[in-house]
Amino acid sequence: MSAITNHMPTAELQALDAAHHMHPFTTNDALETRGARVITRAEGVYLTDSEGNSILDGMAGLWCMNIGYGRKEMAEVAARQMMELPYYNTFFMTTHVPAIALSQEIAKLTPGDLNHVFFASSGSEANDTNIRMVRTYWAEKGHPGKSHIISRKNAYHGSSVGSGSLGGMSFMHAQGGLPIPGIHHINQPDWWGEGGEMSPQDFGIARARELENKILELGEDKVAAFIAEPVQGAGGVIVPPDSYWPEIQRICDAYDILLIADEVICGFGRTGTWFGSETMGVRPHIMTIAKGLSSGYQPIGGSVVCDEVAEVIGATEFNHGYTYSGHPVAAAVAMENLRILQEEKIVDRVGSIGAPALKAGLEQLVDHPLVGGLSIKGMMASLPLTPHKESRAKFAAEPGTVGYICRERCFANNLVMRHVGDRMIVSPPLVIEPEDIDVLVARARRALDETYTELK
Ligand code: PLP
Repeated sequence: MSAITNHMPTAELQALDAAHHMHPFTTNDALETRGARVITRAEGVYLTDSEGNSILDGMAGLWCMNIGYGRKEMAEVAARQMMELPYYNTFFMTTHVPAIALSQEIAKLTPGDLNHVFFASSGSEANDTNIRMVRTYWAEKGHPGKSHIISRKNAYHGSSVGSGSLGGMSFMHAQGGLPIPGIHHINQPDWWGEGGEMSPQDFGIARARELENKILELGEDKVAAFIAEPVQGAGGVIVPPDSYWPEIQRICDAYDILLIADEVICGFGRTGTWFGSETMGVRPHIMTIAKGLSSGYQPIGGSVVCDEVAEVIGATEFNHGYTYSGHPVAAAVAMENLRILQEEKIVDRVGSIGAPALKAGLEQLVDHPLVGGLSIKGMMASLPLTPHKESRAKFAAEPGTVGYICRERCFANNLVMRHVGDRMIVSPPLVIEPEDIDVLVARARRALDETYTELK
């Protein structure tokens, strides 16, 4: 057995990492020449790296660390569950208490009649489940042709073949033969980036009507579902104009289209209510959940399904499942996460403290010469960078170049912010204190200043 530990020199760890570890969304060249940042510990909202730097995690990991790092109760629950029942599956008429308890709790928290949970280990798997689920639903109802799914350009719904196809990122479609047949993408409601001279409200309606036009083009009898995040996260925190979601809801109702809300980022408090669908006033038939379900302490996700769809799907055998569907340790840890979120009133706190403090802090950055505005809903936000605020112009350089520089300057200032193109993204743990938001804003300003100087 190799004895690789946190105490080894950073360069040695980086060399071993580059030799054997294939990273998502990373080139070998970057790993070999610069080396990956080695994270060794985390507590609250701060990460520690192998050089001893204390880094403010402005991204909650990958939008998932809702309750903050280092909660001992989570570790204790995992250890207890591992001693009692470390694994058993939920196939072929078996179950266990963690899966029973967690599905009850999710059904209690989700709105309307979203009362049934099909478990997965990730958001990608859950969205793959959704593709098969909605197609099977319509086939069982006697409409096998109703199989097309409409999504949006620039959406992210996961990296597997199915979920990557639902996503609308062209650089992902360029690899591996995506999208699979029967998935279509309409434009996103990104007023800042694409709204031109239109008012946000008119633009929201126009973008929603693209759904209607696509349904009419494909034929109402061919469309199974529309999938979207209530607020698009990895696409750049695109908060739609107020007019958008009511019009989408009207269209889904009018054409008998299932609505899938991907709540992988928005769910479990990020937008200030339990689910982004509630914040945006949407009534989905299916919700995709992951990330904040366990605050990233264990890999778990799922599809939360309304009574009608669950009834039709369960009427015959749904030939679908994962070895780790409802994994007992992941389910027990998720249950503990939901206990902490509820008992500590963390979701309420987002509305009363976290979101207002984050908004007030980030608004201070809008006067920066590079910042074109602030897009924010609850505790997810983006700052679009621009060479010219009034016209919301794009940089002459390749899209993403300036965002990348700024992200690197954030790292250098011990702040994790992500860039999506030339937008800087903020999505901290929901428990961040106002004084740490001040630290975040001060570090972000330094990073912006350094980026501005570098561009001159
Ligand atoms: N859906 C959304 C909205 C996401 O943001 C993500 C991941 O970032 C996924 C699905 C995929 O989840 P996972 O990475 O757990 O497969």
